[in-house]
Amino acid sequence: AGAVRSARPAMAEAAMAARVPPDEDGDECLPQYRHLLSPDLLAGQVAFITGGGSGIGFRIAEIFMRHGCRTVIASRNLQRVSEASKKLMAATGQQCLPLSMDVRQPQTIAAAVDEALKEFQRIDILINGAAGNFLCPASALSFNAFKTVIDIDTMGTFNTSKVLFEKYFRDHGGIIVNITATLSYRGQALQVHAGAAKAAIDAMTRHLAVEWGPNNIRVNSLAPGPITGTEGFRRLGGRFAEKSDQFSVIPLQRAGNKTEIAHSTLYLASPLSSYVTGTTLVVDGGSWLTSPNSFSALLGIASSSAK
Ligand code: NAP
Repeated sequence: AGAVRSARPAMAEAAMAARVPPDEDGDECLPQYRHLLSPDLLAGQVAFITGGGSGIGFRIAEIFMRHGCRTVIASRNLQRVSEASKKLMAATGQQCLPLSMDVRQPQTIAAAVDEALKEFQRIDILINGAAGNFLCPASALSFNAFKTVIDIDTMGTFNTSKVLFEKYFRDHGGIIVNITATLSYRGQALQVHAGAAKAAIDAMTRHLAVEWGPNNIRVNSLAPGPITGTEGFRRLGGRFAEKSDQFSVIPLQRAGNKTEIAHSTLYLASPLSSYVTGTTLVVDGGSWLTSPNSFSALLGIASSSAK
């Protein structure tokens, strides 16, 4: 695959670079933004984004707000979401309500949704982005560690979706986008917990799309590949990528960025995808198709990231 890269004409490299939307590494807003779609694509709408204070969720909030959406960003750490909301409002001029909740505790979700509805009187879009992950061989994974990831990712997605359904979507319709992963497609080493949790969410996506379609609720998953400038990437792939030129095996020859994930999420959350439900949109540059799944390289990371 390295040969593929070196054989690629310089013109093609330059053209691809020009087509990749810029991103910022940390949890900062983009210094400038060029709209590819109408800036009022989500005008008047409200999105409730779990995990919206950091990483991919933060960028989804920003891109939605740049398209006219107001947002609620919710996670456990109130300080984190409060600081994020200040940055988001300053960069976009839209409202952003930061709320503290734990997706494992339905009462805290219900209280947050009540507060969001009190503030905005509507919620149109739910992004289930909250998750926890780390690399660990199944043999070393405690029963509790496996359960914790299922609790946050799978149970958290169900809990939040159900609360939104009962409090608003059942009567008004809505759009749900679950952020999942491609880990289970090829049985990624050291990821049985997250792979199983995310596969269950993709199944949930189809079940809920079927049951809630008549209520005018669309439910889809978005499965990112390796995405730069995120906690996930730093923990799960950053060092490996630096050391071993991992990207040469990815068909598009690079990691993705948060803006690219946010753009694909924008598609799923907007009327552009009005007839799309029950599906998983993989946004990974083709990487799961060619992922080497190398135990020794991954175990190298697991032991160094445990330090
Ligand atoms: P991140 O910044 O660590 O985001 C995870 C968020 O979830 C944090 O904001 C965290 O905030 C929140 N959270 C964790 N536990 C929670 C709980 N119990 N209740 C409420 N909120 C909780 O990670 P990221 O890398 O951007 O990942 C975002 C999503 O993309 C995740 O679903 C992840 O699995 C998925 N993904 C990422 C990549 C990647 O390359 N980064 C690849 C594939 C899939 P608090 O700590 O404040 O609660």
